[in-house]
Amino acid sequence: MPKSDLVLLAFDDEQILQLFDRALTAVPYHVAIARDSAALNQALQESSPTLVIIGQNFNGADALEIAAGLVERFPTLPVLLLLLEDSPEIVKKAIHIGVSDCLHAPLHIDEIMNTVENSIKRADRIGDWTRREVKRTTATLQKRVDELQKLDIIVEHIEDGVIILDEQSNILLINPAARRAFGLWQDDVAKGKPVSEVLPHPDLKILLNESINNPMPHNEITFEDGRVLSAQCTPIPQIGVAITMQDITYLKQIDRLKNDFVHTVSHDLRSPLTAILGYVDLLDRVGPVNNQQREFIQRVQNSVQSITTLVNDLLELGRIEAGFDTQKELVHLDGTIRYALETLSGQVSDKKLILHLNLPMEIPQMGGNPIRLRQMLDNLIGNAIKYTPEGGEITIDLEAQNDQVILRISDNGPGIPPVDLPHIFEKFYRASNVPKGVGGSGLGLAIVKSIVDNHQGRIWVDSLLGKGSTFTVVLPLYMLAGAQLA
Ligand code: ADP
Repeated sequence: MPKSDLVLLAFDDEQILQLFDRALTAVPYHVAIARDSAALNQALQESSPTLVIIGQNFNGADALEIAAGLVERFPTLPVLLLLLEDSPEIVKKAIHIGVSDCLHAPLHIDEIMNTVENSIKRADRIGDWTRREVKRTTATLQKRVDELQKLDIIVEHIEDGVIILDEQSNILLINPAARRAFGLWQDDVAKGKPVSEVLPHPDLKILLNESINNPMPHNEITFEDGRVLSAQCTPIPQIGVAITMQDITYLKQIDRLKNDFVHTVSHDLRSPLTAILGYVDLLDRVGPVNNQQREFIQRVQNSVQSITTLVNDLLELGRIEAGFDTQKELVHLDGTIRYALETLSGQVSDKKLILHLNLPMEIPQMGGNPIRLRQMLDNLIGNAIKYTPEGGEITIDLEAQNDQVILRISDNGPGIPPVDLPHIFEKFYRASNVPKGVGGSGLGLAIVKSIVDNHQGRIWVDSLLGKGSTFTVVLPLYMLAGAQLA
């Protein structure tokens, strides 16, 4: 037993004090005596006892009350109660308070020594456990603080802009990259203020408006000096939203260069193709051609026709992507669908396809570019006809819901393999299961997607391999500000 252990005796009966003194100093413990509450307090302040024993008759004070106070102030200090009578009631109360143990009169030296020693050992074990727990908790907390500090440093230094908003759209955090992007040079001017006040950029406003209905909207933020940021809004539970932004100016420049190049090349190709087709058409008029020559002429015509379609599609895509179609007018989408079907009816009957048309009577007019919307329908319905085998079924549904029209074009054709689905709207992409002999450039859906984007709409496809595909287009009934009615 280490000599430094100090037992503080808090009672005033001289005889009992002597008995305890004898018993404890023999072990040996240091013994300190407090004969009243004031002396007890002073002893507790000036020394660090390993254990306190409080007598039931402690200078007229209530021993239970004193013990309760001690347990509360020093939770790891073992407190023993010395009872002059064997009262189960008091023992129960003492245990409830948190006293380590009770000693009863008549007292024996052995009993005193054992009880004190056991209480100290028990307290040591609890103390060790508490220390270990405190150490472990402190280490965990320190680790967490380190992680948070690292996270802070990362957010401060990454090249991507990060803005965190609370649920009322006030700025909680705006990192240096985001501040630089919006020309905010001071750190503290933005925090706590509404984002619409600090960053009144229309593209950012659109992105945040979209986040009300769409869980993860994505938008481009364009600045007057030509910079373009790709921005995404992500909801953060119990906080608000995070807006992350990446500078994609150089990608946009590359895309523009590529589009200019494709546009120029396509344009330059169109004239010679028209000339080839014209002269090939003239061949059988300038002299007799035999059957084999006629077949060759037909093949040349087919090939030139596919190249012409490809070149035309590329030119169209270039025009749509360049955003030349800002003029919009009120369009009856149901009427446009009927016109498109009139043109395609020959193909429908050639393939003996069954067509289901669900066009409600009362579809409101929508703001849009009629030529482009027709092109979108031609491509989507054309694909359904092209890919659905003979005798298959095509269903076209149109409905208006709130402020939008929803168009669904379904077929029971071959479907699209899951690996191809994410790429289906990319330029020149054709799925791996395109049936043999079914021609195409892989540009149709890219054109459709650009048209839908230009109308601030959304398009997606649901497809089951071997069962069929459904292309869904959602278009706002009314155009966003900026587009004009012709
Ligand atoms: P393509 O000129 O090849 O038809 P699109 O861009 O119109 O090009 O379509 C891209 C690809 O998407 C097609 O090659 C085809 O694999 C797939 N696809 C489009 N529509 C359908 C459909 N209704 N059923 C099955 N596959 C389709």
